[in-house]
Amino acid sequence: MTQLVTEQEQQEAVKALTDLISVPSFNQPAEDGAPFGRGIRNALDKMMEICKSLGFKTYEDPDGYYGYAEVGEGDKIFGVICHLDTVPAGDPKTWEHDPFKGTVVNDAVYGRGSQDDKGPGIAALFAVKALMDRGYQFNQRIRFIYGTDEEILWRGIAQYNKKESQIDSGISPDAEFPLIYAEKGLQQSYLVGPGTDQLKLSLKNAFNAVPDKAVYDGPKQDEVKAALDKHGFKYTSDDHSITVLGKSVHAMLAPEGTNAVLRLAIALNDVFDFKPLKFIGELFKEDATGSNVFGKVEDESGQLTMNISSLEINEKETRMQIDLRIPVTVDRDKLLKTLQEKVAPYDLKYVHFDYVAPLYVPKDSKLIQTLMDVYKEQAGDSSATPQISGGATFARTMNNCVAFGGMLPTTPDYMHQANEQWPLKDMFKAMEIYAQAIKRLCVD
Ligand SMILES: [Zn+2]
Repeated sequence: MTQLVTEQEQQEAVKALTDLISVPSFNQPAEDGAPFGRGIRNALDKMMEICKSLGFKTYEDPDGYYGYAEVGEGDKIFGVICHLDTVPAGDPKTWEHDPFKGTVVNDAVYGRGSQDDKGPGIAALFAVKALMDRGYQFNQRIRFIYGTDEEILWRGIAQYNKKESQIDSGISPDAEFPLIYAEKGLQQSYLVGPGTDQLKLSLKNAFNAVPDKAVYDGPKQDEVKAALDKHGFKYTSDDHSITVLGKSVHAMLAPEGTNAVLRLAIALNDVFDFKPLKFIGELFKEDATGSNVFGKVEDESGQLTMNISSLEINEKETRMQIDLRIPVTVDRDKLLKTLQEKVAPYDLKYVHFDYVAPLYVPKDSKLIQTLMDVYKEQAGDSSATPQISGGATFARTMNNCVAFGGMLPTTPDYMHQANEQWPLKDMFKAMEIYAQAIKRLCVD
């Protein structure tokens, strides 16, 4: 197969990437027209300037939340979803060179954002430039969409989705090759019930982690210890408190952790007669796949996980915080209805907090077949398969969109780390993969 990207486009891409890295763009306090700080807005301005110079039509949100750049004609839009914000550099002493100078060191583009996500965004952009240089006409619009808040709350892309046209299909170059086609839905909620004056608990933790400690300093300490012993749960204690011990893991891996909050609740349920505690002690127990509540819930994207991370009980109310990771083909409404029915006998009510829809594009779709064919040919890896991720990429913010590259499986991972750098040979390989893929999807 003929190489589409020439050395000239490779060098232009390196130049653009070093320019973009030298505009620091980590989150900072909001300013007028710069909701995530002046640096990120400057990077957005810079990116629009680069796109314009290549012959793209550009649009920059006047409020500074997003921008996009487009080439081609037609009703349909093929999206390339990137982000311009980065994590901060961290301790400058851990870097061998200036993270924001934008340099080429030892045959790698060096600096914050070189891998995540300025580098892959530029690689895909100049891949399209290579197609333009060769005179190809596109059968749809190719739109590069730039988010500005990927590392924190995705508020930039949320504004895009509120105000702009949806894409018909697309890729997000913000992960690894070959591609990610499935990420579970993410539901965060509360279970809220009555209070009691029997006991007081204030076990507050983040939604997305399995808690490894749960402290109890209420009455009946000896009985609670005896209950913990009976169940074989580990704890430490002093004169006035008991600390139940667990093992912390990310909520997406909840079944592999040991939840200290659940263990304490199970023991307390043996000592106190209080309905909401029975939900954990008698129904949910310790099974973070939720099978005691829902039965087995599983598909090709894996099994359901349910993490109960916080438990607060006082005289006014009981409140639990739950994080559900829902397999991609499961009916969320039905699942949540089952949950409501199952918690009702324990005087608990379901309260919605936040939902992030799943990513799912069927493996036999034209998009995935084409991207996989191109990757296999270009990487010389005929055994590559589409991947499932437990995390969350920008791909899930758009219709019919998958995470595609830019890191090769052999690229050393520097994302969010000191000395972030992207070897030129990997960058050029990614450019060629993007050029071949977009040609196959958007030309002919
Ligand atoms: Zn990223």
